[in-house]
Amino acid sequence: MSIIKLHDKFFKPYISKDIIAEAVKKLAKQIGKDCKNETPVFIGILNGSFMFIADFVRKYKFNCEVSFVKLASYEGTNSTGNIKELVGLNQDLEGRTVVILEDIIDTGNTLQQIYEIFKDKKVKQLKIATLFYKPDVFKKDLKIDYIGISIPDVFIVGYGLDYDGIGRNHSSIYQLTTEPKFKNILLFGPPGVGKGTQADLLKEKYNLVHISTGDVFRSHMKKETKLGKLAKSYIDKGNLVPDEVTIKMLKGVVTKHKNANGFIFDGFPRTTEQAKALDLFLESHGQTIGGMIALEVPTKLLIARLLERGKTSGRVDDQDENKILNRFNEYFTKTEILKDYYKSQNKYFGVNGVGEISEITERLSKVLDNL
Ligand code: AMP
Repeated sequence: MSIIKLHDKFFKPYISKDIIAEAVKKLAKQIGKDCKNETPVFIGILNGSFMFIADFVRKYKFNCEVSFVKLASYEGTNSTGNIKELVGLNQDLEGRTVVILEDIIDTGNTLQQIYEIFKDKKVKQLKIATLFYKPDVFKKDLKIDYIGISIPDVFIVGYGLDYDGIGRNHSSIYQLTTEPKFKNILLFGPPGVGKGTQADLLKEKYNLVHISTGDVFRSHMKKETKLGKLAKSYIDKGNLVPDEVTIKMLKGVVTKHKNANGFIFDGFPRTTEQAKALDLFLESHGQTIGGMIALEVPTKLLIARLLERGKTSGRVDDQDENKILNRFNEYFTKTEILKDYYKSQNKYFGVNGVGEISEITERLSKVLDNL
């Protein structure tokens, strides 16, 4: 899970799907215990409660009826306190046990309205259940019978709750946060370590632009451009393309993405010269490298991986063990020293690159989230 943007605001992950599911199950169990000898009418307060109710009734093991009413009381991030409308309550509830299911109770204004409305309905009993509850802001002297999760006074969205109409479709809960800082990361490691695979996943997750210098070169080679022809003479042998050429190309690609949130550089820098050029270039745009995240995998595993990839990748430099060994040689003599370059700036983070793809993404995300 990562930060999401809704309208002008940013929200960070707060309560996971699993924790919500546990709370819903707990509520269904508690209410079931109290109401199992009759058929209660569950009344969901729309819109926010729809997801909660759908999950709740599936966990409720006994007979029940379900109805919905609408009490719109939210405008933006502040509870306005004015309930604007009540729609949908046309069922006769006399003598029935009614359980109001709320997605969230904060100030209690909505709850008070509900108590008012039900005062003259001659119900047998009225019970209140809420998935989320904010004890710090609840000001009313009203009873809440069942509480799923108590939270501090933070503005939350997701799992049915919205911010100005959107955000309800997220299956977990997010809380309001400040705008994330621009992120530029270097995904680092020897050939075949999984940089490309992980970069593709991380770029989606963090809304970053992925620049793989190897991919850019290969695309030029395919189109047989002048740059492609030049690069091919180095790449096919497993040698590095000269710095001058690579740096110029990289600057061109970065400049094309004016509105990027940040970049994942994959396969760049590969020499100290390139690292210095990148620093200067970013600095001139008021930016910096957030960190170098290095995937660590034993070399033995990598050679086998690359030969395997060579069977389908169509890459000349993946198909011959000597070329692969030359790429490692280039890496260990010219590129690996960059670890020290970033370590000295406290920007180096090593991550175990052995395991399931999703596991490795999680490890990388942990580093990224803390940058
Ligand atoms: P990759 O796809 O990252 O494995 O890169 C494939 C090949 O492209 C490398 O072996 C180099 O020949 C060339 N290349 C990619 N990035 C760079 C770079 N930053 N500097 C020099 N050569 C590069």
